[in-house]
Amino acid sequence: VRNCLDRIEATEPKVKALITVTGDEALQLAEAMDSEGPDASKPLWGVPIVLKDLLATKGIRTTCASKILDNFVPFYDATAVAKLREAGAIIIGKANMDEFAMGSSTENSAFFQTGNPWDTDRVPGGSSGGSGATVAAGQCYAALGTDTGGSIRLPASFCGIVGLKPTYGRISRFGLIAYGSSLDQIGPMTRSVEDAARMLQVMAGHDPKDSTSVDVDVPDYLAALGRENLDGVTIGLPEEYWGEGLDAEVEEACKAAVAKMEALGAKTVPVKLSLTDYAIATYYIIAMAEASSNLSRFDGVRFGHRNKNASELIDMYTSSRTEGFGDEVQRRIIMGTYVLSSGYYDAYYNKAAKVRRLLREDFDKAFEQCDLIAGPVCPTTAFKAGEKADPLQMYLMDIFTISANLAGLPGMSLPVGLGKDSGMPVGLQFMGPAFCEADMLSVTECLE
Ligand code: GLN
Repeated sequence: VRNCLDRIEATEPKVKALITVTGDEALQLAEAMDSEGPDASKPLWGVPIVLKDLLATKGIRTTCASKILDNFVPFYDATAVAKLREAGAIIIGKANMDEFAMGSSTENSAFFQTGNPWDTDRVPGGSSGGSGATVAAGQCYAALGTDTGGSIRLPASFCGIVGLKPTYGRISRFGLIAYGSSLDQIGPMTRSVEDAARMLQVMAGHDPKDSTSVDVDVPDYLAALGRENLDGVTIGLPEEYWGEGLDAEVEEACKAAVAKMEALGAKTVPVKLSLTDYAIATYYIIAMAEASSNLSRFDGVRFGHRNKNASELIDMYTSSRTEGFGDEVQRRIIMGTYVLSSGYYDAYYNKAAKVRRLLREDFDKAFEQCDLIAGPVCPTTAFKAGEKADPLQMYLMDIFTISANLAGLPGMSLPVGLGKDSGMPVGLQFMGPAFCEADMLSVTECLE
């Protein structure tokens, strides 16, 4: 813990990954644990970790990188956080993010921007950009992110680390401040596949406090690791992911990793995800609709920021929300409310829900031909801060990641080298059938 805190002190002035550093509190806990000696029953005993700042932490400020929750200190832990604490992990900080997880670069934080540790003029990706940067900068051993449309995989790819978005329902969302409830999932961001397996092992499982967490057995993820080759594994390569619009350096690094898989014995087959072109439109309708509903709870009465000068109730709601939410959040609330309003609901929300269903069927068909799907995480490597000022340009960064959320399937980003033009990390994405995390971890570890 002390080494990590030193590392934070040395790197934070440039990287700015953390909104809160628990400092002395973490050290005291570490010292107390140390004086009792190692506890073999705790698989993460003494491991310093960082959490994305939308996971409720008892007694530790939780802001969602928003002014509206600037001073919010939860009185309970998210289930995933409670499980990590029980396993002996020590929380040393809370990571910066796009406000309410809306974004792909962490530039939408209400507080400050985070630099990519590989080149601090570039973004770390988002929305879990602080989590990606803190791991890549060596400030902690693992971090938690959340992924609604790619927010674990994209920053993992941009920062050159491992990021795993589990199957929807694999990890409890209790205590995760919701963005798009039918899409959100918590997952580990780590230096290695093995570390991701260790983190997932602790967090996975049914939770009576989250009715969407699924009651299926949790396999032994660590036992699945250590395979020597990829004999018998079939990898599907979706045509739509490997064509137009992909930067040459990303294509080259990802193709080299595919060739390596083939050399290790994997068979590759082309597959079709023919609705990929509709994924962005579908996702942004559903995500904004859910966001507008989820964010209605921030009314200045029960949580966070309140305009004390308001003269009457409606004025207080309006002015508190106007002051508390940033531009992107307001844009999404307005769009989400629009697609849900009567007269437009059938034209937008209902249609998107139907496309979502078809998209899931596309995946089912693809998985009749292969065990896992592989493709790039993002068409580019980390871009320069300020480069994507147009929100639509930013949304296009999610083209390859959002389908897994719409279909509820697991997805993962594995670092596969540096782009030859930018010198920045490239991530290869894996997607698989529901609850295939053990297979995904074993294949990626073999390739690591
Ligand atoms: N970039 C996407 C969005 O802004 C995904 C964000 C996320 O996964 N939290 O909605």
